[in-house]
Amino acid sequence: MRQKIVAGNWKMNKTVVEGRVLIEGLKDLVGKVTDPVVLVCPPFTALTEIAMSLKDSEIRIGGQHMHEADSGAFTGEIAAEMLLTSGCSHVILGHSERRALFSETDEAVNIKAKKALSAGLVPIVCVGETLEERETGNTEKVIEGQLGGSLDSLSESDMKKTVIAYEPVWAIGTGKTATPEQAEEVHGFIRKLLADKYGSKIAEEVTILYGGSVKGSNAAGLFAKENIDGALVGGASLKADDFAAIVNAMV
Ligand code: PEP
Repeated sequence: MRQKIVAGNWKMNKTVVEGRVLIEGLKDLVGKVTDPVVLVCPPFTALTEIAMSLKDSEIRIGGQHMHEADSGAFTGEIAAEMLLTSGCSHVILGHSERRALFSETDEAVNIKAKKALSAGLVPIVCVGETLEERETGNTEKVIEGQLGGSLDSLSESDMKKTVIAYEPVWAIGTGKTATPEQAEEVHGFIRKLLADKYGSKIAEEVTILYGGSVKGSNAAGLFAKENIDGALVGGASLKADDFAAIVNAMV
């Protein structure tokens, strides 16, 4: 059985106080849910405080980004050990905003994923095509390239621990969700790529999340698909009721 996950990416939203309010609301609604794993990824400034608030809850916490070095002169960056000791179990890597706005490459994501795994964090590796790439029939080529580069030379045991998030760029923050059929087609393709490289047993164990304008009203249709193991949620993770509705679509 693959682990199901509903993860919230708060992006650059919520002060510490606002984050605490959100997390208290979320604890009331889904604080005891263990299946799916409920994960929140606050900004770095709120990690420690949110981790403290979550001590009496099943909700887990993750980082939104990570540097691959252990420490040093990397102004503005954060290391795996810092995430771990702030209470994180997961880290989002290669989000399309990091790729587009901060020039993060597949190679960089690959180095970070290996570092996260060796430190004991679960990397959530994001891939996804732009609208132009989809409309020119290049979705599979783009996904194959991003996955090949981002997961390059990961061992079998590391692959089993890694989570993949398929997030079509045209669906992120736009209100345009991929239909369950469109999403399932790409999720099935990703699992086939994993099977070709690692064998079907390992491919069947990898959690593949969908991300892109997921809401309470469309989550159940997506989660009903065989290869969709949960969601990475942006906008709808910023209100406790909205995020809980997505979690409850899977419970
Ligand atoms: C995201 O940024 O990962 C995301 C899926 O955002 P949204 O849910 O707002 O589309």
